[in-house]
Amino acid sequence: MTDFEAQRKRMVADHIRGRGISDELVLSAMEKVCREAFVAAQFSFLAYEDGPLPIGEGQTISQPYVVAFMIEALALKGGERVLEIGAGSGYAAAVLAQIAGEVYAVERIGPLAHKAASNLDGQGYRNVHVHLADGTRGWEDAEPFDAILVSAGAPAMPDMLKRQLAPGGRLVVPVGDSRQDQELIRVTRLADGRFEQKKLADVRFVPLIGEEGWPGPSAVTTPT
Ligand code: SAH
Repeated sequence: MTDFEAQRKRMVADHIRGRGISDELVLSAMEKVCREAFVAAQFSFLAYEDGPLPIGEGQTISQPYVVAFMIEALALKGGERVLEIGAGSGYAAAVLAQIAGEVYAVERIGPLAHKAASNLDGQGYRNVHVHLADGTRGWEDAEPFDAILVSAGAPAMPDMLKRQLAPGGRLVVPVGDSRQDQELIRVTRLADGRFEQKKLADVRFVPLIGEEGWPGPSAVTTPT
C-alpha cells in the first residue's frame, strides 16, 4: 500500500465514516479517488487532511467530508446522469464518476476547467465531460439529470437547474443571502412535477457567480 493509499483509508475511516456518512457507494468512491492528484504538488502532503485547499484563481477544493455529505444527499444508486456546477479541481466530479454513469461538470473559470479536465483524464475518468460555461444555466444539451450537485453558494434557489431535473431527480445546492454562509438544500422533483425542498446543514462555499448567481467579473471567454 502506498503512503497516500494508507492516508486515504484513514481519512475515510476517521472523517467520513467516522462522522456519520454511511452510504457504502459514497464510502467506496471516496476510498478510490486519489485526492492528491487534484491539488498542486506543494499541497499533496495535506491531501488527506479533512479541509479545503487552494486550487488557484481564488477557489478551493472542498473539504472531503462536505463532498461526501453532499453526494450522500443525492442518494445515487449507480448509473445515473449527474450534473455538477463548479468543477474546480475535478475532485468531486471524480467521486461522482465512481458511482454515476455519466457526469457533466461545468466550470466558469477557463484555467480551472482545463485543469479539471486534465486531472480527470490523467486519473483515467472517461465518463466525465467538462464544460466551460456559466453553470447557473445548467447544461441544456445534456438535460434532464437524475442528480445535480452545486459546489458553490447561490444567493437564491437557481430555477434553471431545478427545471433540468428528471422526475424523481435531486438537486443539492448551498443557498444563502451572504457570499460566505449558506444552507445546504436538497430539492426533489416529484413524479407529478412538483418540487419538495429540505434543509440539510449549514455550510460555507465560495460564491456561485453567474446569471442565477452572484454578480461577478465575466470569466467565461470561449464556451467549449
Ligand atoms: N467541486 C470542486 C470545488 C470547486 S469550488 C472541487 O472538487 O474541486 C467552486 C467552483 O465553482 C469554483 O471553481 C468556481 O469557479 C466555480 N463556479 C462559481 N460559479 C460558477 C458558475 N456559475 N458556473 C460554473 N462554475 C462556477
